[in-house]
Amino acid sequence: TALIKKLFLAGKMVNVNSELPFDEASEIALEYNCIAEEEEKVDVIEELLKEDEEDEKDMVPRPPVVCVMGHVDHGKTSLLDAIRQTKVTSGEAGGITQAIGASVVDVNGQTITFLDTPGHEAFTAMRMRGAQSTDIAILVVAADDGVMPQTIEAINHAKAAGIEIIVAINKIDKESANIERVKQELTEYELIPEDWGGSTIFCPVSAHTKEGIDNLLEMILLTADVLELKANPNRKARGIVIEAELDKGRGPVATMLVQKGTLHVGDYIAVGASHGKVRAMTNSRGERVTEALPSTPVQIQGLNTVPDAGEIFMAVDNEKEARTISETYISQGKEKLLADTKQRMSLDDLYSQIQAGNLKELKIIIKADVQGSVEAVKQSLLKLSNDEVVIKCIHAGVGAINESDIILASASNAIVIGFNIRPDARAKDMADSEGVDVRLYRVIYNAIEDIDSAMKGMLDPIY
Ligand code: GDP
Repeated sequence: TALIKKLFLAGKMVNVNSELPFDEASEIALEYNCIAEEEEKVDVIEELLKEDEEDEKDMVPRPPVVCVMGHVDHGKTSLLDAIRQTKVTSGEAGGITQAIGASVVDVNGQTITFLDTPGHEAFTAMRMRGAQSTDIAILVVAADDGVMPQTIEAINHAKAAGIEIIVAINKIDKESANIERVKQELTEYELIPEDWGGSTIFCPVSAHTKEGIDNLLEMILLTADVLELKANPNRKARGIVIEAELDKGRGPVATMLVQKGTLHVGDYIAVGASHGKVRAMTNSRGERVTEALPSTPVQIQGLNTVPDAGEIFMAVDNEKEARTISETYISQGKEKLLADTKQRMSLDDLYSQIQAGNLKELKIIIKADVQGSVEAVKQSLLKLSNDEVVIKCIHAGVGAINESDIILASASNAIVIGFNIRPDARAKDMADSEGVDVRLYRVIYNAIEDIDSAMKGMLDPIY
């Protein structure tokens, strides 16, 4: 039966009486020569998915990794461009380098790594796979437009990830700019400027005139100093895939952010279902390099297939190990592996999780048709907190349940409550594939009753 199961998982329909071609049979026999190794495979993955402990004495400071978030059209892309332009050294001026998905900016001898894909969805999608990509989020808010729905989404995505937020009030060159209003609006989301007694850094900037850009960069470095970001460069490399594609001439190319250790040309790596040997590495300026330290983005060649963005990569001892890891990943299915490492939250098993002591906090995301309902649902549900479980609303807003909500729920292990609204089509598909529990209600009382019963283990299962 074990054999059948194995073949079945490999996509082959067989039963006990089926005959196998000799080469296939011998392949399997070979594998079964070492059942112990099968077992070992699983352990390898678990071992590697675990965050390994690091000795404090091996740690050295590393540059911050920064992403840019905010509402559409508030100037995220322009700001990233402006930062890159002001920091291009004379040698590079004029020479257009191929973008690799992340850039390293030099500020008075210190460096900052920027992820080039703006937006909180990209950021949280990586977190959904268990990878924390970023240390600091730059929240871009247009001075003439103020706080908008995606501004709030971005704030909550960053908060859920526990990363530092620096506010960049952009477009201050505009006549209609109103910096004070933006500050005022953001106080509602606990982003309070230092001169108002808070601890959030606000940087007025203009991506067009470049005013304030230097100050913003200094503030990023200052924040990084406070965070005391460190990594051990003297170990096998580990990090995440920022983006990857199939290049006609070069085969699979992947931009990877090294987070720990040092990646070298010649290293064997495993990345999800892909594996390979680093044949060549290019830095963010398009230069060939032979090694990459923590917080450095590099584009690498040498993988056998194109990995997904957000996938974790790790350098291993030899080709066999790299192949074993990726094969285990494929044969077990990445959903299963992810599911094993991450408990999905569902109202149905809320009670058992509470009983098992696994759960101290029930995270919820609330979406409703009007602001009044958002507040009413939120207040009623928060009141259900008891000694065992605290209900925490990590995001609430007006409008249909969207992809951003599902990504956030998945990454943060939250459930989504919709009141008088539905998920849009893409959100629904994603909720299904990610296994996010989405509950829709038309009457507040029903929502309260469901959560209350779920916490007491008395929720009627839905079929
Ligand atoms: P994104 O959607 O957040 O990436 O925003 P973009 O960078 O595409 O900018 C949206 C629009 O705002 C574009 O037309 C930009 O030219 C404009 N914009 C961006 N930054 C500034 C700025 O500092 N000042 C002014 N006046 N316009 C800006």
